[in-house]
Amino acid sequence: MSQSNFIAQLLEIKDPNIKFSKVEDLKPTKKGIVFHFKVVHARLSYQLFHCLNCGFESLIKNGITLTKLRLTTLNGPMILMYLRKQRYFCKSCQITCGAHTPIVEKNHSYNRTQFCCL
Ligand SMILES: [Zn+2]
Repeated sequence: MSQSNFIAQLLEIKDPNIKFSKVEDLKPTKKGIVFHFKVVHARLSYQLFHCLNCGFESLIKNGITLTKLRLTTLNGPMILMYLRKQRYFCKSCQITCGAHTPIVEKNHSYNRTQFCCL
């Protein structure tokens, strides 16, 4: 089992389109107080064939956007996920769209359902 699979199992993230690359510790200091964060770096990408707006097969990959997600903590430091999401561009209708994952709602930065079952 690869390191990416271990991170996915630990965080209970079952989306196969998310590939984890590394986990690092951040200890920023603000007004003399040291905060401790675990930062999980991951990438979300999959192949889209049809445009969601016009339906033509004219989508091309168009860069990546960085999203910072807050995940539930295991036993101490806050866990952040720096998720690099694939962007797509439609050559037919000139719109852009992005990859989505079920772990967070669209335009949200953390999953509320993770907190209800604790
Ligand atoms: Zn289109």
